[in-house]
Amino acid sequence: MSEQDTIFSKIIRREIPADIVYEDETTLAFKDINPQAPIHILVIPKKPIPKLDDSVPEDQILMGNLLFIAKRVAEEQGIQNGYRVVINNGPDAGQTVFHLHLHVLGGRQMKWPPG
Ligand code: AMP
Repeated sequence: MSEQDTIFSKIIRREIPADIVYEDETTLAFKDINPQAPIHILVIPKKPIPKLDDSVPEDQILMGNLLFIAKRVAEEQGIQNGYRVVINNGPDAGQTVFHLHLHVLGGRQMKWPPG
């Protein structure tokens, strides 16, 4: 297993199961195994970028796609009344899986500021 090979790479390669809700050439979206809201989807690039800080200029289109897919997934999941998109970048943000991912959270009232 290489340094960039995380549990999400295994999901991309179908080595471990996940409840996949969207897939295209560059992006995958699946349900979070430990949901923090009634709807909690993770949107990830297939390219193993460990965290937002590690992205490079050539990743800009890929990252724009992630955000657009987050919107599409929220729509498809029927989140009508708003949702939150979160990226945890690094240890102080609470990142635990070092493969860039967007959390799409919805189906309940969110609080602000987040913890
Ligand atoms: P973060 O703390 O931002 O790195 O988020 C990692 C997220 O990945 C957490 O919300 C976990 O619940 C989720 N997670 C970890 N393993 C899996 C898995 N096998 N399938 C789906 N979600 C997972």
